[in-house]
Amino acid sequence: LAELKIELIAVGDELLMGLTLDTNSNFIARSLAKNGFRLAQMRWVADIGQNIHQALSEAWERSDIVLVTGGLGPTHDDLTRPVIAGFFGDRLEPRDDIRNALLRRFEKRGFTPAPGWEVMVDFPTRAIPIPNGHGAAPGIHFSQDNRELFAMPGVPGEMIGMMEDYILPILKKKSTGQYRYRVIKTVGASESQLAMLIGDPGKLLPVSLAFLPSNDNGVTLRLSLYSNTDSGESNSLITAEHLVSKAVEPYIYCKDESTIESVIIERMRKEGLQLALAESCTGGMIAARIVDVPGSSDILNRGFVTYSNEAKCELLGVSVSSIEQFGAVSAEVASAMATGARERSNVDIAISVTGIAGPGGATDTKPVGLTYIAIAGLKGVEVQRHLFAGSREENRKRATFTALSILFDYLKRR
Ligand code: ATP
Ligand code: MG
Repeated sequence: LAELKIELIAVGDELLMGLTLDTNSNFIARSLAKNGFRLAQMRWVADIGQNIHQALSEAWERSDIVLVTGGLGPTHDDLTRPVIAGFFGDRLEPRDDIRNALLRRFEKRGFTPAPGWEVMVDFPTRAIPIPNGHGAAPGIHFSQDNRELFAMPGVPGEMIGMMEDYILPILKKKSTGQYRYRVIKTVGASESQLAMLIGDPGKLLPVSLAFLPSNDNGVTLRLSLYSNTDSGESNSLITAEHLVSKAVEPYIYCKDESTIESVIIERMRKEGLQLALAESCTGGMIAARIVDVPGSSDILNRGFVTYSNEAKCELLGVSVSSIEQFGAVSAEVASAMATGARERSNVDIAISVTGIAGPGGATDTKPVGLTYIAIAGLKGVEVQRHLFAGSREENRKRATFTALSILFDYLKRR
């Protein structure tokens, strides 16, 4: 089953200088994957005619589909149009339909175009203009020897419109197969632990298995299979999912688009439980993740951001003496924070986090990344000690996810 080989070229000095984050490539890669395709290759090219030509010629040589984004506009640094025409041995000629469409657009918006706009009327004679629903310059579609080139503007909204309305439908018509995916999201086991539990991934073939670890969502396992477009749900994908699920069962938190926070909220809502948070080093990150989910008000009563010692004492009733004796980053203070938050909010469960996010703040006995997370419920309080080893941001994200996973685990055991 031959797979369409799709390649992407993103044009623009600003991408290579790190001034613009290349969200276009990310969008294109994602929307291809969502539609059962896969990007085989991508590259960045500067606004230099020769370089664009070179990239184009290499891509056209080896791929069925070449996608280009950027450099279609009217300014001197927009070289994609003439380079494409030159590459195909074509020439640019003014097209009345494009001129009229542009004039209509200017009139409708009531503005006088900047001088030089007419450059956009010049179009390769053998190409098809891709309608631009969100801007001026049309995209370029070249079709030759059963291969396609699609050039889109760099402006994200214009690129997205062309991908969705014009390019994806053509790709779907051309392709005979598609990738199908299943995800299994886990928490509480490392990549290597999961790999050990699953064993030889060869037994899943023709399904392939990928491990996707992250700071803020645990390890996601992704199963993928390339198969006929019209074959329904493939048995081998279902079998592989069963095998893997069985092997890692205790660690699964969902097998769909859900997040750990949405799973937690669902569960707490069902059981009629209320939550309070007491955050120090995470500074509200746990609350933000929970509040991101629509309907979180059903379970979240309040969150305290108690960054200073005074706040821990005043708002949560932590005793001055325990801070003096054990320090703000300690099992004792974490427990007192969780208990205090639970009692003062009159809720079922409270979670607290106190830690040293870094880069400063370490002492001889307490390194950067040291974090205590406590959970207080009906049956008392439990506290865990963690040592994270990342940057300030990574440590805070890890602490946030770990707190959520402790809560998830607590609900499971209840
Ligand atoms: P225009 O008609 O605006 O000149 P264009 O096709 O020439 O469109 P560019 O000049 O390359 O596109 O870029 C236009 C805008 O789109 C810029 O603001 C640029 O930062 C943004 N842009 C370009 N490429 C990308 C990309 N890969 N990801 C995100 N934004 C991008
Ligand atoms: Mg431009």
